Amino acid sequence: MIKLRKIIAAMLSMILFCGCGGTSAQKMEVTYFAMDTVMSFRVLGDNEAAEAAFAGLGGMLGKYEKKWSVTDPESVISAANRGESVVLDPQTAELIQFALEMNELTDGALDITMYPVLREWGFTTGEYKVPDDDRIAELLMLTGCEKVQLSDSVLSLADGAQIDLGAVAKGYAGDLISEHFRECGVTSALLDLGGNIHTIGSNPDGTPWRLGIRSPFGEGNIAVLELSDKVAVTSGGYERYFTENGVDHSHILDPKTGAPADSGLVSVTIVGEEGRLCDALSTALYVMGAEAAERLWQEQGGFDMILIESNGDMLITEGLENMLVPTDVFNGELVMLRD
Ligand code: ADP
Ligand code: MG
Repeated sequence: MIKLRKIIAAMLSMILFCGCGGTSAQKMEVTYFAMDTVMSFRVLGDNEAAEAAFAGLGGMLGKYEKKWSVTDPESVISAANRGESVVLDPQTAELIQFALEMNELTDGALDITMYPVLREWGFTTGEYKVPDDDRIAELLMLTGCEKVQLSDSVLSLADGAQIDLGAVAKGYAGDLISEHFRECGVTSALLDLGGNIHTIGSNPDGTPWRLGIRSPFGEGNIAVLELSDKVAVTSGGYERYFTENGVDHSHILDPKTGAPADSGLVSVTIVGEEGRLCDALSTALYVMGAEAAERLWQEQGGFDMILIESNGDMLITEGLENMLVPTDVFNGELVMLRD
C-alpha cells in the first residue's frame, strides 16, 4: 500500500529569515499560487516602482501557466503531447530550445521527454505507484530528446513522445519576471517562485539578502547564504515524494533508468545569474551525482553550487566561500571544491 508521507505542492526550500533592512524602507509583498506552487514577491524601497511591477505580475504568471502547464488540456504543451504540430510563441520556443541544449550539456540528465514515465509513477496526478520494470522499459522507448523536433518555432514530437517543462519553466518565468521588475525601476526585491529565489539588488541598507538552505534531513536550515543580484534554485528529493514499503520515491527521475534518481545527493542548490540555468542544473546535477557535478562545474563554470550528500556532508564551490555559513543544524563535513 502506498503511504503518502509528505507531498507539499509548494515546499519552499529556501526560507527568508532576514530580509528587511532598515525601518525606513517601505516593504510591499504579494503572494500567488501559480505553476503548481506558492510564490511571493517582496519589494523594498520605491513604492511607485513596486506598484508598477505588481500591476503586471498576475497577468504574466497566468500567461506562463496557461502556456506551459502539462495538465491543462488547453496549453500548447498539451497540444504537442497529443501529437499535434504546434507553432510556438518566441518565449516557449526559447525555453524548449534551452532545455534541449541542457539535455546535451548534462549528458541526458535533464530530459523534458520523461513525462510518460513520470506519469506512470503518478507524479503528475498524485496517484502514486511503483511501475514494474517491464512497463518502465516500455515507456523509456518513448523518451529521448531526439524525439523533439523544433524548427522555425514549429514543435512536433515523435509518435508517443510527450514533454513536461516542470524542471525549467519556473526558472525561466523567474528570469522574465525579474526583468519586468527591473524595467519598472525596482532596485531591491526578493522574488520567491516556490523555492527558486531571485534577488534584485540587496537590502536597502546595502547588506545582502540572507537565505536559509533547508535541511534535507528535517527541520531548520542547514546553512545561510548571502546573495545580491543573483538567483538560487534548490532541487531535493525531500520536496515531493511518496513512500511504499518503507522506500521513498522522489519526483526527479534518472532518464537512464526511469526510476527516481539515486545519486547519493539529497539536495542540490545552484547559484548563478539566470534562473533557467540554475533550475535546469539543480535538477540535472541531482540526477548526475557529486562527481559528475564537479566535473561539469570545472568544465563549464558560470555557476556555483551547494551539494548535500546523503551522509550529511556539504560540498560547496569556491565562489561561495564568503557567502555561505553553515548553521548549528549542520553536522557533516564541509568540503570546498576548487577549480
Ligand atoms: P521543483 O520544480 O519540484 O522545484 P525541479 O526543478 O527539480 O523541482 O523539477 C522537478 C520536475 O521536473 C518534476 O516534478 C518533473 O515534472 C520533472 N522531471 C523529473 N525528472 C526530470 C528529469 N530528469 N529531467 C527533466 N525533468 C524532470
Ligand atoms: Mg529544476
